Amino acid sequence: MKADQFQAPDYYNLDDLLSDEHKMVRDAAREWVKREVSPIIEEAAQKAEFPKQIINGLAEIGAFGPYIPEEYGGAGLDQISYGLIMQEIERGDSGVRSTASVQSSLVMYPIFKYGTEEQKKKYLPKLASGEMMGCFGLTEPDHGSNPSGMTTTFKDNGDHYLLNGAKMWISNAPFADIAVVWAKNEEGRIYGLIVERGMEGFTTPETHNKWSLRASATGELVFNNVKVPKENLMPEKSGLGAPLGCLDSARYGIAWGAIGAAMDCYDTALRYAKEREQFGKPIASFQLQQKKLAEMITEITKAQLLAWRLGVMRNEGTATSAQISMAKRNNVEMAINIAREARQVLGGMGITGEYSIMRHSMNLESVITYEGTHDIHLLITGADITGIPAFQ
Ligand SMILES: Cc1cc2nc3c(=O)[nH]c(=O)nc-3n(C[C@H](O)[C@H](O)[C@H](O)COP(=O)(O)OP(=O)(O)OC[C@H]3O[C@@H](n4cnc5c(N)ncnc54)[C@H](O)[C@@H]3O)c2cc1C
Repeated sequence: MKADQFQAPDYYNLDDLLSDEHKMVRDAAREWVKREVSPIIEEAAQKAEFPKQIINGLAEIGAFGPYIPEEYGGAGLDQISYGLIMQEIERGDSGVRSTASVQSSLVMYPIFKYGTEEQKKKYLPKLASGEMMGCFGLTEPDHGSNPSGMTTTFKDNGDHYLLNGAKMWISNAPFADIAVVWAKNEEGRIYGLIVERGMEGFTTPETHNKWSLRASATGELVFNNVKVPKENLMPEKSGLGAPLGCLDSARYGIAWGAIGAAMDCYDTALRYAKEREQFGKPIASFQLQQKKLAEMITEITKAQLLAWRLGVMRNEGTATSAQISMAKRNNVEMAINIAREARQVLGGMGITGEYSIMRHSMNLESVITYEGTHDIHLLITGADITGIPAFQ
């Protein structure tokens, strides 16, 4: 793969909206990605292997629980810093960002928000340092966009719960030490349970042959009469709102992350267009290529403004789930379109692993589907503005 020459575009001087801390956190993540991710990521994706050697580095740049308070091992940062870290990691690879998103928003967040003090003390510092990795089990083979139909259940069995069912498409499942699992109790109420690797009846078969997020490990969670200690139930919130609260946090991170993938594609295409000559001139001198590049930077700039404003509202505690849906949907579509156009600017070279664009393009096919599909986020906006849910 070519040396990483990334130069971040900032067409509207958005750096002026960032604090010194934001820029410091962002720059540290950017440097780390250049040093530790760019040199190894293409090979990991080609081999379909999660590069475990980057776990410590992710922890060091604050990617595991950026906004979790320092007393629990988190970085104690604000929402904009969290977003910027996700942007920089996804600039490297959406699969690596997925690992960080799951660990932070889908494992640490629910333990922090819905867990007991003992659970927070037991799990959060180890998750923040990467000593322990987690995964999040919501999706089931027959319940994806409609998680409320889940059939994974747990029942009271004296001094423990008995968990049965299966989850599918679970990021980090093949190597996770713990799984935050959403299941229904005997009254049909959804709760989160912390299931640990090694519990009898719990297996995590890996999902193979993905053409997308190849550097992220995906698998199933299978529960066959798993005895889960009662102290592993997260008591502070129940119902579908509990997993959806985690998804709000992860989707917000994706809205930023997608900008990173788009920036990398744009920056690569711009440099290539200025260097590559055809008909005796750089291809950047042709109007059709300029149109592509000009539209890319316009869309990136709009997405940056959307993400930044959402971050401000997240810091204030006023961002709604529907506003988060709009940003996730818009920014991922923006990124996938830019990846496609940027690939064309590179001609045949665009399909090779010499450049990152095709990998980003394939990765974004998962990003547009997970954490709520593109369609579902549109329906959320539709329901919000009309007051009429059109899901059923
Ligand atoms: C690589 C990868 C990693 C993932 N990681 C995780 C994870 O860590 N944890 C986890 O719990 N899940 C994870 N997921 C699952 C992901 O969230 C689901 O794939 C997603 O929610 C969609 O569910 P589904 O695949 O069952 O599609 P379906 O729900 O079957 O949807 C199929 C199509 O129908 C459309 N559709 C569905 N309902 C409606 C409707 N009411 N109106 C109009 N159109 C509709 C959808 O938009 C989609 O286009 C992951 C998925 C992938 C691909």
